[in-house]
Amino acid sequence: MSSISDNLGSVTRRIQKATLQAGRELDSVSLLAVSKTRSAGELREAVAAGQRAFGENYVQEALDKMAGLSDLPGIDWHFIGPVQSNKTRQIAGAFSWVHSVDRLKIARRLSEQREPDLPLLNICLQVNINNEATKSGCRPDELPELVPEIGQLPGLSLRGLMAIPDPDQPEAELRASFRKLANTLKQLRQAFPEAGPLDTLSMGMSGDMEMAIAEGATWVRVGTAIFGERPQKS
Ligand SMILES: *Cc1c(COP(=O)(O)O)cnc(C)c1O
Repeated sequence: MSSISDNLGSVTRRIQKATLQAGRELDSVSLLAVSKTRSAGELREAVAAGQRAFGENYVQEALDKMAGLSDLPGIDWHFIGPVQSNKTRQIAGAFSWVHSVDRLKIARRLSEQREPDLPLLNICLQVNINNEATKSGCRPDELPELVPEIGQLPGLSLRGLMAIPDPDQPEAELRASFRKLANTLKQLRQAFPEAGPLDTLSMGMSGDMEMAIAEGATWVRVGTAIFGERPQKS
């Protein structure tokens, strides 16, 4: 069995290769280690191997791990799961990024609840890029209204867009989804230059990070390829 440290090495090499092949700067793509269901001990191994950014989907699980790892300085916590409005205060207090904001109400609460002495909370708007009925995320056609509204909230820095296109769709369609997200970000940056940096595309997972990088990903969110298969939730 390969170790978390070995896996981080091979994921990092995959990212570097894809970044160079895309003609991009090596530091333009960052690795978010998706650590949902993983123990504090497993995260500790990843930190020892040099990983600093972790993505969590469940608030209480994440807070428990933060407490267990509080002796380790410099961990960067990203929230990537569905945001319930009764959890925004805890999220605004403990994370530096939220990739999964999909409505104005949630953004307003996060902004109001972000302590003024903390840096601005970095957020991405999650987009249901394929308009699938079952998926979370806003519709692409809602963005021209959401972006300027959210961009003016004082506690937030609107960094960009996130999507989770169905990884099992045919390769050409998956690639088209990544490209559509990248083009949408470009258009929003032109239309709303005041809304925030809009410099971030959070897309690509264990099975499709190369393709996402070729289409412009700046954060790839990788779980299985680092920590192994997740146990099925019962
Ligand atoms: C679980 C998860 C990932 C990681 O998926 P892997 O296929 O394990 O790499 C990425 N993004 C989100 C939002 C997730 O929930």
